[in-house]
Parts: sequence; C-alpha cells; structure tokens
Amino acid sequence: MTDNLSTAVQHAEHAEQAEGAEHGVGEGRVAVVSGGSRGLGRVLVERLLADGWRVATFSRSSSAFIAETSAAHPGSFHWEAVDLGDPATARTFVRNVFRTFGRLDLLVNNAGLVREELLFTMPPKAIETQITANLVAPIMLTQACARLMTRQGGGSIVNISSINAVRGYRGVSVYAATKAGLDGFTRSLARELGENGIRVNSVVPGYFDSAMTAEMPAAHRVRIERRTPLGRLASADDIADAVLYLSSPRAQFVTGQSLVIDGGLTC
Ligand code: NAP
Repeated sequence: MTDNLSTAVQHAEHAEQAEGAEHGVGEGRVAVVSGGSRGLGRVLVERLLADGWRVATFSRSSSAFIAETSAAHPGSFHWEAVDLGDPATARTFVRNVFRTFGRLDLLVNNAGLVREELLFTMPPKAIETQITANLVAPIMLTQACARLMTRQGGGSIVNISSINAVRGYRGVSVYAATKAGLDGFTRSLARELGENGIRVNSVVPGYFDSAMTAEMPAAHRVRIERRTPLGRLASADDIADAVLYLSSPRAQFVTGQSLVIDGGLTC
C-alpha cells in the first residue's frame, strides 16, 4: 500500500469509528422485534434505535408509538401489520425487511399472548390460538431469519419465554406449554446454528409492568412482590437489559441459554 493510500484508508477508518461512536454500537445492523407496538417490544424498539440499529417490527394493529416512531425514523424503522395467527405472513414480513434494509442481524421473538383459564373450560380454538402465536409462528419466523443470517455469516436470536415455563401456575397451562416449548427450541437450535455463527438464547421474565399484567388484581401483585427477594415486579427495561446483553458482543460466547430475570422469584 502506498503512503497516500494507507493514509486515506486510515482516515476512512477513523471517520467510520467516529460515526459509529456518534450513532451508537448498533450502527448499520438490523433487528427484527416482533410485537413492537407496546410493552417490552416497544422498549426494545426504542433502545435499539437509540443504539443505532435499524429496526423492523410488526403487530396486529398500529399504535401512537408506531406512528410517532415511523415519522421520527423514516430510514431506519419499518412496521407492518402482521398477525402471528397466520404464520405464513410472518415469512412475508421477513422478506420485506430484507428488501428494505438488505441485511438481518438480530431477531427477538417477543410478541406473545396469554389467555388465563383452567384447561377444563378452555375452548379448543383458544388452545390453538396461543400455540400458533406463541410457538408455531416464532419457529417459522426464526427459520426465515436464520436462513438470511446464515447467508450473511452470523447473527443472534433471542426468544422471550416466561417463568411459567419453569414453575407451575394455575390457569396458564397452555401458555406455559408454549413458553417451555420456546426454551427447548432455543437449546436445540443453538446446537444446529452455532457452526453458522448464530447464537440462540432465551430470556425468561418474571412479572413485569405491561398491558399483559395491567389487569392483575392488587392482592395478587402484593403477593408476588412479597415472594420476590428483590421486592418488586420488574420493569420492561429490566427485561430489555437482558435482551440487549444477549444481543451484544459481550455475550459472544453465550448460546443455548435461558436467562431468568425475575428478581429471584423462582430461586
Ligand atoms: P403486551 O404488552 O401485551 O404486548 C404484546 C405485543 O405483541 C403487542 O405489540 C401486540 O400487538 C403483539 N402481539 C400480540 N399478539 C400478536 C399476534 N397474534 N400477532 C402479532 N402481534 C401480536 O406484552 P408484554 O407484556 O410486553 O410481553 C412481551 C413478551 O413477554 C410476551 O412474549 C410475553 O409472553 C412475555 N412475558 C410477559 C410477562 C409480563 O409480566 N408482562 C411475563 C413473562 C413473559 P397487537 O395486540 O396489536 O397484535
């Protein structure tokens, strides 16, 4: 390399580093977060964008947050209406994301739904809806994303499970089955995808404040707080911290793991 050329390359590298520092650690990378219209998904979208990631998300319906974020980040945010009840549409979404951003580095399988009811009375349709949205669709979404990541040489996948996967609670047996399924999926897929440079982990939250827990009776909430060594419910940010850690280079040798974030409730 001539002196002039090497100086030009050094300048370009410094400019790139400065730009990266200015825009954050995710600069240029692309994340798919399912269910980004509210709750944990919304917090993840906000924090990933702040870190310089380009972010694609979907939900069944839009929200004020989606409208505001689309306006504020026209080149780095993408939202579509997708219903995980129809897993094939999730694949189309991934194709659209790749067409829009040209790469894919992170998938967070966050969207989920719960119907609390004893199994004796739960209609078959409600069983099927939960299993499709919480387990079948995330698996199909992961397959589509992992193929793209493999072509690119690597990536990271984080599945949002629940402490219902590791402890029994009345009224959530079907939901628990889907979340335990996600944890099993995580471990075996990590073995399949390690050689492709893709890490697969799950975050296992205890109760945190969101639409999902908003209806919780006050007495139930107090009971959970009393049984939690750290004395409170989590915030969505507590859970997002774990997702962002698992997505980051700091977790570059972590795969196949389920990280419980519950203030010690299940310890
Ligand atoms: P949330 O506030 O209810 O938000 C769920 C998100 O997923 C929304 O954006 C929702 O948008 C979307 N979504 C739901 N069903 C969908 C479907 N069929 N197709 C497409 N999008 C769908 O939930 P959250 O409390 O943040 O929970 C996030 C994740 O953490 C879930 O997987 C949940 O199981 C898990 N988790 C939550 C808690 C808790 O205490 N909150 C505890 C443990 C685990 P639309 O409704 O518009 O579709």
